Amino acid sequence: MSRILALLKTNTTNFPSDLVDAITGAGGSLVQIWSGDHTFSAVIAEGNASVQSAMSAHSAVACATSAAIPTAQSLDVDPGAMELANAWNTSLSDDYRANVDGFYAQSMQIDGLLPPGGCAQGAGEDGDGGGGGKLVAVGGPSGSPGPDTTTGGVAALTTATVVHKERRALVGTIGVAAAYVGGPAGSTAELTSDDNGSLALAMMHAFDVYYDLAPKAAHLVFEVNVRRMTLALDPTTIPTPANPPASGDYEACEAPWRDAALTAFGQSSGWAGIGGFVSSATFSDPADYTHAAFLTKYPTAWMAYCSSSKKIVFQLTSVVGNWKPAGTHFVYAHETGHTSGAPDEYVSSKCSVTDKAGFSNGVNANCEVGNSAAVDCLMRNNTKKLCPATPGHFGWNDANGDGILDPFDPSYST
Ligand SMILES: [Zn+2]
Repeated sequence: MSRILALLKTNTTNFPSDLVDAITGAGGSLVQIWSGDHTFSAVIAEGNASVQSAMSAHSAVACATSAAIPTAQSLDVDPGAMELANAWNTSLSDDYRANVDGFYAQSMQIDGLLPPGGCAQGAGEDGDGGGGGKLVAVGGPSGSPGPDTTTGGVAALTTATVVHKERRALVGTIGVAAAYVGGPAGSTAELTSDDNGSLALAMMHAFDVYYDLAPKAAHLVFEVNVRRMTLALDPTTIPTPANPPASGDYEACEAPWRDAALTAFGQSSGWAGIGGFVSSATFSDPADYTHAAFLTKYPTAWMAYCSSSKKIVFQLTSVVGNWKPAGTHFVYAHETGHTSGAPDEYVSSKCSVTDKAGFSNGVNANCEVGNSAAVDCLMRNNTKKLCPATPGHFGWNDANGDGILDPFDPSYST
């Protein structure tokens, strides 16, 4: 089994739900859905060569492969899909693998590549494939298309129903309303196309980590809607936080660029605007849980954090500086864990083994403060492992042993 990336053709404004049927019909699993503005750009699945063939054969698919996509190839896809393709290629490159310090082996299981399929090079293209080239979108629009006026009719991604939405969990479909917020060209906050690819790579592999860790019964699928905004705001006007940051520094550093972006997206400022931004995201089907993600190079009080389980902030420069490019996805995966309410477990978080949190409202038993028995965990030191307490926080337990995970179980009592 391998991960398979399918790039969707340009202007795919209606999600091809029968592509999911084709994936599952061939024995594969849906892993991720990506869109930008109002068009769907890519689907990632797990499966074998039959699944790849089924994806390649779908009329909405421009290219489906588990291997790197040849450079300098012209494909009829949107620019956002090309960013994802470049991120995908980066993850498969020797350079990336050589710089991961073991991260790669933990985070991806795509060593057994399938035969190339659906991404053969066309005429007149550079057949070198030696790296360095960039994919070229031939059909991508220069501006965003009009809003999708589809009203329903898209099949649900899963027949499993989350019944306990009074608490957040990492099950079902997780809709991520992502904003890439860049600054003026030439400033430290400028987001280049390569930066956007780095942001996509961090999220893509973070959600791969969850696919690998989650029980199948969690029916976990991440759906990411990316909207981009370039601001005129000078990043040197952002206040400098204390070291370590004071609690008020987070909002003081974040609000200027976040609210400017929200305004540019037609939203109000603060939490009301964040809620409006999430509500206006384009998803294939109403997600079971949603949250916002602001990814930027504007200065922030901390490299990455999650607020109130509903907003992730990810500062690319700091994350890369601290974790190297190949470790960025573990930081993103850790923050995603907080969207279920799962608590930090490391000493400087000042956690306590008696604190209760997450879907299960279970104790933070792996908090390492005064706890010599603490083990590695995604919520402790960003490794691709879970301690015994975290699955409950994520909503991945079956507390009454009836074979149904708690968030799906009507007989489970919170
Ligand atoms: Zn944390």
